Amino acid sequence: MTSPSSTEVSSVKPKVESPGSSSDEEDEIYKRFASLNVGVKPEENSESVLDEVSIDGIIKFIKDKKCKNIITLAGAGISTSAGIPDFRSKGSGLYHNLQKYNLPYPDAIFDINYFQSNPQPFFSLAKELFPGMFKPTPSHYLIRLLHEKNLLLRHYTQNIDTLERVAGIPEEKIVEAHGTFYTSHCIDCRKEYSLSWMKEFVMTEVIPKCEDCEGVVKPDIVFFGENLPPKFFHSIMEDFPLCDLLIILGSSLVVQPFCTLVDKVPKDCPRLLINREKVGARNPALAFLGLLSGGLKFNEPQNTTDVAWLGDCDDICLEFADKLGWKSELEKMVKEEHARLQKEQSQQKDEIDEKKEESASCLKKVSSSSSKEADKNS
Ligand SMILES: [Zn+2]
Repeated sequence: MTSPSSTEVSSVKPKVESPGSSSDEEDEIYKRFASLNVGVKPEENSESVLDEVSIDGIIKFIKDKKCKNIITLAGAGISTSAGIPDFRSKGSGLYHNLQKYNLPYPDAIFDINYFQSNPQPFFSLAKELFPGMFKPTPSHYLIRLLHEKNLLLRHYTQNIDTLERVAGIPEEKIVEAHGTFYTSHCIDCRKEYSLSWMKEFVMTEVIPKCEDCEGVVKPDIVFFGENLPPKFFHSIMEDFPLCDLLIILGSSLVVQPFCTLVDKVPKDCPRLLINREKVGARNPALAFLGLLSGGLKFNEPQNTTDVAWLGDCDDICLEFADKLGWKSELEKMVKEEHARLQKEQSQQKDEIDEKKEESASCLKKVSSSSSKEADKNS
């Protein structure tokens, strides 16, 4: 992935939100977040915890049970093969579909001010992206396996597609940095609504309105101009000092503040990048000057921690599982879970089709009775 895609909502402001908290408190939390640069320290040929700084070195590190607090960071690359559309890439059907809304700029679709005046484009996109239409990928299931092997401390995701939850990774293990479709709130009175409540509106193309105040109800994904979930900042401060292996999957590592997370781990913590391109590397010249010292240190002579495993995310995750002796387990999980979801999703589709037919026939009745009424009056 070279550019952030639709499921990686880009450049959200590094702010925190909690009801009733003052901006001083927010500033304090952000300062603590920013100062948690455990990994960014001058390196004096520190010894590596890995036998060798390579893919096999990382595999051996896991097999030798030298890590038990793995943090995974994920971007859109883990969901690509699930068919989550990338609306930013020109030529994709979805991007094209948005043209009819005459958005002032493509990102307006995720702009909270724009949404307040015109929620329709967002809900059209939401229909294409809505959870329940997609199946998690082998990459998601590898993360679940890490959890089942008691190796996963936390999974941080930039994606809003909820596929981690669908894959069966428990909620308490997931930090959805850019929010989620899983819950929704009224933008006026903040009343909470569930995924199934929202789904009916989105799928039948009706703008969801609050039952109490008629305000528009918006899924809890983070828009431009909105705060990141407080859980994001709180979890980072608890988790990252404990991290003993960081695995970055399918992220372009360009979206702030998510991309700075690679620097929050202890300085001897190995970092594995699984991605199509080698991203997130620091500039050694700038680092030498003491400027922008953060980033991954591939190819630097003093690199004792960082490994890039380049290629398709799912292929690598399968190979990763194979090298760990978990391949058949992973393949079985993918096969069984996909079969289960297939059944569930086709049932849900039937229900939605029924509801659509119902509301269409209701509309027909209303319009035919009103035209009869008009005939009578004329
Ligand atoms: Zn309301």
